[in-house]
Amino acid sequence: MTRRLALVVVLALLACAASAQQGQKPPVRSIAQVTGGLYRVQNNEHYTVFYVTPAGIILADPISADAAAWLKAELARRFPNVPVRYVIYSHHHQDHASGAAVFDDTAELVAHENFAAAVKAAAPKDPRYAAVVLPESTYRDRRTITLGGRRVDLVHPGRMGHAPDFTVLHFPGERAAFVVDYIAVRTVPGSNTLQNGAPIGEYVSAIRAVEALDFDIAVAGHGPVGKKSDLGDHRQYFERLAERVSAAIKAGRTLEQVQAANIMGEYKDWIEYDEDNDINVANAYKTLSAAAPPR
Ligand SMILES: [Zn+2]
Ligand SMILES: [Zn+2]
Repeated sequence: MTRRLALVVVLALLACAASAQQGQKPPVRSIAQVTGGLYRVQNNEHYTVFYVTPAGIILADPISADAAAWLKAELARRFPNVPVRYVIYSHHHQDHASGAAVFDDTAELVAHENFAAAVKAAAPKDPRYAAVVLPESTYRDRRTITLGGRRVDLVHPGRMGHAPDFTVLHFPGERAAFVVDYIAVRTVPGSNTLQNGAPIGEYVSAIRAVEALDFDIAVAGHGPVGKKSDLGDHRQYFERLAERVSAAIKAGRTLEQVQAANIMGEYKDWIEYDEDNDINVANAYKTLSAAAPPR
């Protein structure tokens, strides 16, 4: 190694150490067209969508204050004089719903009617909810928003353990739907999904509510974009988990035996399998044992 190269390496290492120390790893951000006027936005592990119409932009989750400020500048650059007219929250969780304040000058903030109460319940335990702006209009079951001749249907899929206030965004003109957290593509449900006795059947029916819509492209709030059939696969994970854990409980198996038996082994290639599958089995075992105690 030349002395000059050694110096460069040392400086690079120092820069890495400094940024790691200060937690200054730059965020991974991007904007990609899904189809037509529909775009997907990445901010690290979180994704949202926006829909460009001749009369303005319809944005789903703002994600965070920093992401929203960055996105606002990107939109102004890429689509000059096309203001954001709507911000539509997928659900109240602060890691998706923060930062809408920067769009509030031009946009109407929209959410399911359970959103505000859910924020109120969560906020005292988590100061990050200060960045979540409450909606200016709400709906109960369904709502259609039209802008510049384009349309988005807001569909409440029902409450489930993850949140009581989900909105699925259906873009009929683009044959696409945006779904967050309670559905993902080729990804095992997260470890908090079935905690605290959350009924598995609520997830199954909330996914069926999306499957009933007419679309082809499934855009998720985390992980890969997929097809509508990926949502059916996600529902089937819940159904198989419930069936197999119930059968094991009836057969008198302990949780440790059920986990050792790899009863969901065909999902081993799904994202987060190693992190979350055993926890889902444990949560399902607990919930289903309470419903039908082992003999
Ligand atoms: Zn969430
Ligand atoms: Zn999430």
